[in-house]
Amino acid sequence: MTVIIGLEIHCQLTTRTKLFCGCSTDYRNDPPNTHTCPTCLGLPGSLPVLNRKAVEYALRVGKALSCAIPDEAEFARKNYFYPDLPKGFQITMYDRPLAVGGYLDIEADDGTEKRVRITRVHMEEDPGRLVHVGSGDRPRYSLVDYNRSGIPLIEIVTDPDLRSPKEARRFINTLRTTLEYLGVFDGEQEGGLRVDANISMEGGNRVEIKNISSYKGVEKALTFEITRQRNVLRRGLAVERETRHFLEARGVTTSARSKEEEHDYRYFPEPDLCPLRVRAWCDEIVLPELPAARRARFGETYRVSPIHARTLCGDLRLADFFEDVACCGDPVLAATWVADTLLGELYYREMDVTGVPAGHFVELLRLLRGKEITEKAGVEVLRVMLDQVKHGEAPETPAAIVDRLNLGKTAGDAFGPVISEVVQACPDAVRDFRNGKPEALNYLVGQAMKRTRGKADPKELARMLRDAIGDAGGTG
Ligand SMILES: [Zn+2]
Repeated sequence: MTVIIGLEIHCQLTTRTKLFCGCSTDYRNDPPNTHTCPTCLGLPGSLPVLNRKAVEYALRVGKALSCAIPDEAEFARKNYFYPDLPKGFQITMYDRPLAVGGYLDIEADDGTEKRVRITRVHMEEDPGRLVHVGSGDRPRYSLVDYNRSGIPLIEIVTDPDLRSPKEARRFINTLRTTLEYLGVFDGEQEGGLRVDANISMEGGNRVEIKNISSYKGVEKALTFEITRQRNVLRRGLAVERETRHFLEARGVTTSARSKEEEHDYRYFPEPDLCPLRVRAWCDEIVLPELPAARRARFGETYRVSPIHARTLCGDLRLADFFEDVACCGDPVLAATWVADTLLGELYYREMDVTGVPAGHFVELLRLLRGKEITEKAGVEVLRVMLDQVKHGEAPETPAAIVDRLNLGKTAGDAFGPVISEVVQACPDAVRDFRNGKPEALNYLVGQAMKRTRGKADPKELARMLRDAIGDAGGTG
């Protein structure tokens, strides 16, 4: 049974001030209702003044998603009554959005590239935030905070082109990366992204899941909904057309009150704002390099493999970090260490790359490149550095860590005694090797590695052992 999914994604634009007033959008850590003014409180007589930067940001998005930009766009009033919306209507866009008919290419479930069509992109203001006090289902009272009221959002609506929860999540990740490259969105910001998802089984009714607020939540909510709808159909019933809420903590969706029809909102053009001449404006906007172009450039300029290029460019900060350390003299080595080793160690520590000092990382790569330390010692140095960063300490330089922990590759001569020791301690393996069992050498190398505590290069040890056994064979 084919699954059909479409998404409506609301993203907070990273402007310094709100959409229609000068209040700061940076209210986190501040008390409720401290970033407000008559406009974003919706007091009678206040008038909206449009934030130019927010429109430019939204146009960047429309252009990057290859949308058609109409000559004019227009704000509209969406009327409804709710305590988080003091003026009784939300300023949004309705029949004249900013951008229509674009697309975004993502990786499909089978690994090929897939084109997801974008229906439209429009702007709107966020309402305030309600805080319910008391136990979950039956709060004693609710508080309202208007710090969020008037925060600029863009809504991106897709055609129903997605076919699985994983694909939906990949779409959101790809979109997030694109928006971060455009410099208009911060994916780490709490409350920065909200998703409504439409889902149906082929031929069945469509269900809308409202207000999913995390990346993982989208995949979980859709997975739950597929199971639920399949069970309904298996019992010979029809899936009801309805709106459902996703309860993140329990991982289930529940039926919500019946959805308003569009005419309930009594949309009409916002009389306090004039239509926007957007096409000419959009033509002047020059886009920065986007992920696909950067991937191609990483392949051409640095000879990075396609898989590494995808990993690196899938995260703006990681791609920037790679370019900062590619100067170590061996970009392919740098790509491997950033995309595989560093990323794994960061993931394990729940850290992101921003705190990692690029200069230190370059020094580490140079030590590896000059074969002054083994790969194993390199990982050890990296772990020490990351632990220090994580605990808020200034990280030591790799050279200092190598010295302090005595991780340097010692010159081959220093292992002479170890080699003699191993040859003496393992006469059976030595005999086997001489009798034509080459695998016995691996055992001897293992023994020698143990005694050097991983500081020696195993290839070098194998060579020394072979020499030693050959010598012994000559005299014996
Ligand atoms: Zn304000």
